Amino acid sequence: MDLNDACRVLTTQQPDCFDRIAAIYDQMDAAYTVVARHYGFVCQGCEDNCCLTRFRHHTLMEYAYLQWGFAGLDADLRREIRTRSDDYRLSLQVAEGANQAFRHWCPLNFEGRCRLYAFRPMICRLHGLPHILRHPARGLIQGPGCHILEQDCQGVRPRPLDRTALYKALAGLEQTIRQGTGCKAPVGLTVAEMILAFPEA
Ligand code: SF4
Repeated sequence: MDLNDACRVLTTQQPDCFDRIAAIYDQMDAAYTVVARHYGFVCQGCEDNCCLTRFRHHTLMEYAYLQWGFAGLDADLRREIRTRSDDYRLSLQVAEGANQAFRHWCPLNFEGRCRLYAFRPMICRLHGLPHILRHPARGLIQGPGCHILEQDCQGVRPRPLDRTALYKALAGLEQTIRQGTGCKAPVGLTVAEMILAFPEA
């Protein structure tokens, strides 16, 4: 079963998974807000912007939710986003082939605004803040904030975002839907690659 077959199964047989991921995303947004407020940090966009960064996303659940949001856009906008996604994919192929740094606007970013903001993947919600993760095998993993935060918030008492429960919640949901659908296909796609993989309406 491929990713799109699994999405069809989810829509008909496990529709509550979409409410469950929305609730997990709400928890992520709330956790982000608490920590950002602590630092007095407001993301104004910069070259470290998540929308310019090549992130690959790894869960079927995020793929399915983004696909669901994408299907709700009007046909002209979907076409434009697919064209942008194709440009993104070609630029990425060239950059990766030449082992060059890659900066490219995500195809969903229109003049600084995400066209699928409510459906954006996890890392778009958590990027930029100092964080910790209590990994079952690797122990405590710590990550810094983006360079703007590190520069502007020097001297602020450290209060990293603990991603542990958030990752666990998403991993638990992923396990449930993988078992329910039987889909073993990996994801590992950028937003552009996901969009190009979605079925054409
Ligand atoms: S999905 Fe939205 S928030 Fe995430 S990188 Fe793309 S435009 Fe930015």
